[in-house]
Amino acid sequence: MPIRYGKDEKIQHEVEFIVRKLGFRWVDVSRVVCVRSFGSGSRRTLARCYTMPKIMQVALGMKAYYIIEVISERFDKLSQEDKTKTLIHELMHIPGTMGGGFRHHGDHVTSKNVDEMYRKLVTNVWSDFYMSDKDKKSDYVEVKG
Ligand SMILES: [Zn+2]
Repeated sequence: MPIRYGKDEKIQHEVEFIVRKLGFRWVDVSRVVCVRSFGSGSRRTLARCYTMPKIMQVALGMKAYYIIEVISERFDKLSQEDKTKTLIHELMHIPGTMGGGFRHHGDHVTSKNVDEMYRKLVTNVWSDFYMSDKDKKSDYVEVKG
């Protein structure tokens, strides 16, 4: 069966959310495109990150894009936590320059660092959630006596 690809808005939104909440300011989300694939023969891969080699950027006169592909057959079976961690993992491959290279496994893209980022994400999401209530003191009624 041939592989089918399509842009995935939901994954795109989650990736943009993660970038914002984790403060990955070097990630220009307008140059990150999330794609879902069906029919990949891959048995072990959950997701992949692609970019454009320098020669293509020069030849086409454009900056590098990064493509995050989720492999539907594998990715969809994950828990939400593992889906988010998978997306964090792929985002961590994107280098600060966004110049068409990758940061590699080894010392940077490790499951320990991904777990740490996931914890930070959860913490930031909830602290932002409560932060937004801070200015609503006027909503409370003062009770005397
Ligand atoms: Zn990886």
